[in-house]
Amino acid sequence: MKTLAGVTMEMGISPCAASEQTKRANMKLLLFSDLHTDVSAAKRIVELARGADVVVGAGDFANVRHGISICIEVLRAIRIPAVLVPGNNESFEELSAACATWPKATVLHGTSTEVAGLVFFGIGGGIPITPFGDWSYDFSEAQAAELLRACPPGAVLVSHSPPKGAVDVAGSGRSLGSMAVRDAVIQLRPRLVVCGHIHASAGQQGKIGTTPIVNAGPNGLIFEFTPDK
Ligand SMILES: [Zn+2]
Repeated sequence: MKTLAGVTMEMGISPCAASEQTKRANMKLLLFSDLHTDVSAAKRIVELARGADVVVGAGDFANVRHGISICIEVLRAIRIPAVLVPGNNESFEELSAACATWPKATVLHGTSTEVAGLVFFGIGGGIPITPFGDWSYDFSEAQAAELLRACPPGAVLVSHSPPKGAVDVAGSGRSLGSMAVRDAVIQLRPRLVVCGHIHASAGQQGKIGTTPIVNAGPNGLIFEFTPDK
């Protein structure tokens, strides 16, 4: 009886009371990117979202402009707010249309939104222009710099493409990130940058100044904020 009661209590306390406590103290963001139509990865993200306050998807839900709805159909089961940007494998319009059935999702590209007191700014696509050709949803550094002008200082910056010099090293060993995103980070000091795109750096974290830069990747990871004093 004793053992049974002990076990039951422990099981009852850890998921409920613990998350109530951390909710007051910290804010948990679930970060992910580059699902590329992988349904089992999308299902894992839905599970992980149960322990988070906000979900951030940094692009590439589709594959070469195909199958955008495959992962969105799974992800729309997420009941907490979600902030998304298109990758280079889908356009802003394609992602927005697919998310019409996901009421908790906000798709950003050159725009911002406020969720639970945090400001998020999003910029999608491949920056700089990729070598993949016409299908790829890409932007030049100049176009990106123009879009980034609308980014408020101190926001959470969600960019499919990483900033140059942080979590942007490809399998070839080359740094393929964006100078425009890097300049924006230096100038605007976002509190966090969430990116993806360069798969060889998925799951890695770096820093520019005091800003943490996370290449989220398809496995997803929880990033915790301590609220401002
Ligand atoms: Zn990708």
